[in-house]
Amino acid sequence: MPTTPASHSPAPPLPLRRVTVTAVRRVTPRMVRVTLGDPSLAGAPLAGPDRQVKLYFPRPGQSEPVLPAPDPDGDVMRWYAAYAAIPEARRPWMRSYTLRSHDPANATVDVDLLLHGDADDGPATRWARNARVGDVLGMFGPSDYFAPPVDPASGDWTLLVADACALPALATLAAALPPGHRALAYVHVADTAEEQPLPTEGRLTVHWLHGESSPEDAVRAAAFPAGRPYAWLAGEAATVRALRRHLIEERNIDRRAIDFAGYWRRKLTQDDAPTREDLAEAQERLAALSDDT
Ligand SMILES: Cc1cc2nc3c(=O)[nH]c(=O)nc-3n(C[C@H](O)[C@H](O)[C@H](O)COP(=O)(O)OP(=O)(O)OC[C@H]3O[C@@H](n4cnc5c(N)ncnc54)[C@H](O)[C@@H]3O)c2cc1C
Repeated sequence: MPTTPASHSPAPPLPLRRVTVTAVRRVTPRMVRVTLGDPSLAGAPLAGPDRQVKLYFPRPGQSEPVLPAPDPDGDVMRWYAAYAAIPEARRPWMRSYTLRSHDPANATVDVDLLLHGDADDGPATRWARNARVGDVLGMFGPSDYFAPPVDPASGDWTLLVADACALPALATLAAALPPGHRALAYVHVADTAEEQPLPTEGRLTVHWLHGESSPEDAVRAAAFPAGRPYAWLAGEAATVRALRRHLIEERNIDRRAIDFAGYWRRKLTQDDAPTREDLAEAQERLAALSDDT
């Protein structure tokens, strides 16, 4: 957690906004791109590699999510406590998403939402299926509070692994690769209709995986380029954990050179409590952060 400087200079305001949908389009049959606008989005670039936000979705009967006003001193924990204290029936659902791009001139950001379910759609996916221009969401971030910036070119070469819901983030990492930087990507999507162009100046080879082909099997079978890699892994939590173990234990990759995140858990929503494995993962992330300092 950042601390307040001794000079008592004011903390920066919380990056909390009320954003309005200004455009909706299907990028692929299962990916909905919404453009979200607010005058405060004008100015300095917000997007970049792996910039995450929390989106707040209204409950049934609400025309927009009702969120506590931030304290003038920008205290994030106090704001979050006020949010958590809203009775569940009125508390907006909070879900994590990635800024796919930012248009500072038009004061908008794009977010891609995967329509991942059918019978077990969660609230974010239900919202995305029906999103309309004029709909209102809450947005917190991007913020170093929960996601410090990453450098996808910090190794000799880069390994990127994602499933369909982490493809928007992977696309931002690919776009940030410097000219000629060697990179391998393994991306699991439902079928060829879900593949997307991944513009980059890097020397990126993309392996698209479909259906039963698992990212873990594909990475295990891969011949890696020589040199010290930086790896970024995101997608279903158990798959990400298994991949990370493989890279550390069988490929001898330095754990500090691996960024990893479980984006979703089978049969659990983002509202469900952390499992024992989630807590172990959180501890490993903290340990990796303190190794870095
Ligand atoms: C840092 C971060 C960034 C993310 N960025 C994006 C992004 O840019 N775009 C995007 O689409 N998603 C992104 N996600 C994933 C997204 O937050 C989850 O998929 C989230 O659970 C969706 O909420 P929901 O309300 O639809 O489903 P929930 O209510 O959370 O879950 C309902 C059911 O759906 C299942 N489920 C949830 N997600 C998936 C999935 N991806 N595939 C299959 N089944 C699933 C759950 O297991 C559960 O059974 C990100 C997650 C994180 C942590």
